[in-house]
Amino acid sequence: MRISDKEMLSMTDLPFDKVSPYRVKVVEYTIPTTKEKRMEILKKYGYSGRLLPAEYVHINMVTDSGTAAMSDRQWSAMMLGDESYFEARSYENFEEAVNLFTDMPYILPCHQGRSGEYLVYQALVQQGDKVPSNTHFTTTGAWCYERGAEPVNLLCKDYLDSEDKGWFKGNMDIEAFEAYFIENAEKIPLVELVLPNNLNGGQPVSMANLKAVREIINKYDKRGTKLYLDVARISENAWMIKQHESGYEDKSCLEIVRECMSYADGCHMSSKKAALVNMGGFVALRDKRTWQKMQPKLIRTDGYITYGGLTGRDLEAVAVGLIEGVNDYYLADRQRQVDYFAEACKKRGVHIMEPASCFAVYIDAGKCLPHLSPMEGPATCLSAQAYLEGGFASTAMDSLQRAREDSSDPLNEGKKMTAPYELIRCAIPRRVYQEPHYDWAAECLARAMSHGTKLPAFRKIKEDRPPLEISEIGLRTFFDNFEPVSDLPLGDPVKMVSTRI
Ligand SMILES: *Cc1c(COP(=O)(O)O)cnc(C)c1O
Repeated sequence: MRISDKEMLSMTDLPFDKVSPYRVKVVEYTIPTTKEKRMEILKKYGYSGRLLPAEYVHINMVTDSGTAAMSDRQWSAMMLGDESYFEARSYENFEEAVNLFTDMPYILPCHQGRSGEYLVYQALVQQGDKVPSNTHFTTTGAWCYERGAEPVNLLCKDYLDSEDKGWFKGNMDIEAFEAYFIENAEKIPLVELVLPNNLNGGQPVSMANLKAVREIINKYDKRGTKLYLDVARISENAWMIKQHESGYEDKSCLEIVRECMSYADGCHMSSKKAALVNMGGFVALRDKRTWQKMQPKLIRTDGYITYGGLTGRDLEAVAVGLIEGVNDYYLADRQRQVDYFAEACKKRGVHIMEPASCFAVYIDAGKCLPHLSPMEGPATCLSAQAYLEGGFASTAMDSLQRAREDSSDPLNEGKKMTAPYELIRCAIPRRVYQEPHYDWAAECLARAMSHGTKLPAFRKIKEDRPPLEISEIGLRTFFDNFEPVSDLPLGDPVKMVSTRI
């Protein structure tokens, strides 16, 4: 039975912060492995979560992108997909949902977030421009360089203070932004705010910060600077605002999302995150002429403007998932899972970045393995060892892998700056795992940590491949491979408590 949007939103006294508002219909098995086999896999395929064949990963928190379990409502909507090339009925359903979500009139579907970003950068950004952000996502940074412009990251200082317990450490540094904007207003066509800040601890952005950014643009604007939001996970950011920013307790997350949107000129979304689909994205904006400028570019890369590289059934799945993903009951359940995993780690002495964000737990590997220096890859090591311990895969984001380039001289290896924290991102797939999975994942990390100084340093493997272009420098992390200077400790075999199967 497909329950209606209205039924999903109706009031209830059921505690969805304690029990999920859905149940499981289809289950997916992974191939059983042993420690010896996992060691073999690590050696054969490289030591990074994203290189491991997924079939041998038991709990996969490498990414929350495209990994959601879709609902019966989405699967049934997909059967109604209209696969006509032009003006398909499925586009109307998609447009209606995106209008409701963004409150913006002009929409373009695209196959994922980055193809939407391409349209925005092609339409708005020119050679010599500067694009400030709280922290550009890898691909918006790449599009910026591709246009001959400079991405500028102005993340708030709270983020760098690991003792700071504030809730909105993904904010733009407002003072730095104001000073930068006054100085460079003529060169700034676009400001990007990423909510929440994926590359820096997944930390959310407050409504107050978003409003302040808008006000600064309005006050000092010299050329019609636009504010765009990178909204892959805005629904989850809205949940954080509802919980932790005063004045929003009684608003629904959909109302909060729409208020965020009201301060922006446009947005681009990777629907593979908060819209609960495996593929999809869109751009939404207020200005008709910019929308028209984007249209031929979309046709050149993704296809006609009513499907943008998606099938009719993909559009239907987004239309349903976007609204399901901003449902308060669903978001309460999601936050409970993230918090449960954060607690499961802390209980076992695994250090995490605080506060845990709304979609992932970031492990502070620098604190977990203090004997390894940043360039020895503490996160790379801990993440690999946790896979060895129990089939748990995650993404290392340490200085060894992610040392930031100096944006004034991005090709200069010698100018690499270390990352502010040595993090492992454990991104939580939506509606996929249950409490025992989180306990086991935390157990894998704790067992890995227990080897202490036996855990080896990692180094980069030099590979012969064509050099990356300047716009591709940020994508380096997808191509670099790493290896330990000595074998990972095998330790004791994992024992099942009960052998009666
Ligand atoms: C994933 C992501 C993107 C890019 O989206 P894709 O669908 O992977 O192309 C952009 N911004 C943020 C913040 C993201 O997390």
